[in-house]
Amino acid sequence: MKTNLNHLLNKDASSATGSFNILDLDMALSIIDCAEALKTPVIIGIASRHFEDIRAPLLVPSILKAIESTEVPVALHLDHAAPQQFDMIKQALDLGFSSIMIDGSLLPLEENIEITNRVVEISHRYDASVEGEIGGIAGEEGVADTEQDSPDYIPYTDPAEAQQFVNATNVDALAIAVGTAHGIYNSEPHINFDVIKEISLMLDTPLVMHGATGVSDASIQKAVSNGIRKINYFSGLLQTAMDEVRSYQSQSNDFYHFKQIMKNQWQYIIAEQIKLYANLAESLDKQA
Ligand SMILES: [Zn+2]
Repeated sequence: MKTNLNHLLNKDASSATGSFNILDLDMALSIIDCAEALKTPVIIGIASRHFEDIRAPLLVPSILKAIESTEVPVALHLDHAAPQQFDMIKQALDLGFSSIMIDGSLLPLEENIEITNRVVEISHRYDASVEGEIGGIAGEEGVADTEQDSPDYIPYTDPAEAQQFVNATNVDALAIAVGTAHGIYNSEPHINFDVIKEISLMLDTPLVMHGATGVSDASIQKAVSNGIRKINYFSGLLQTAMDEVRSYQSQSNDFYHFKQIMKNQWQYIIAEQIKLYANLAESLDKQA
């Protein structure tokens, strides 16, 4: 069942919804299969930087068919659309995406507000939700092989700016800079839980944390308990794929079998993350 972030993210809940970017149909179906098995809503993301390469206009109709034939609520989200990618945003809305992220975080605040307003205005006409961003999240989205240290140099999102941004734009979700980064960490990042809590208490808008790969389970749970309601996880799926390639290489040449193993591995990781964000791990263990 197709839905948007407004229906998925509940400010008052004590859980977060997972958002996983994909590069092909196998990844999308792995996410939907997990969501079905756990009876938990989920977000499928396509990063703007991959939109052309993975030929999203050809791929998206298949993903939407799969979304429409499942009972669990699933949003299809364009991740990190840049201000100069307004044509891609319109194309995504026409294709049936139910959610758009406009990332104007590198712009001065007034310009970020202006472009975000344009995206909110057009997206809401399509009944699609909009995620904005305030305070830059380090690292490049969708690039897993750039190892980086925890981004101590990144300024955390200023709560007053976050409030000004949300009041001026009416976004449906807000990505904030809390100390995480895109890609793979060399060491555990220092998440500023106080910033999350302060912004969460000020705003009615659900908050989003990007760059969850490599963040400890305890930190994820603490981020959720302080107000994070959407978590982006992607690099770990790419990392797992490459680990699997390396370990499988010496054993077999059966590519079809490899693909099955890969899908199983993705499903395992995605399920672990969904359970963690939804605070399901404990209750599921008790059922077992
Ligand atoms: Zn991101």
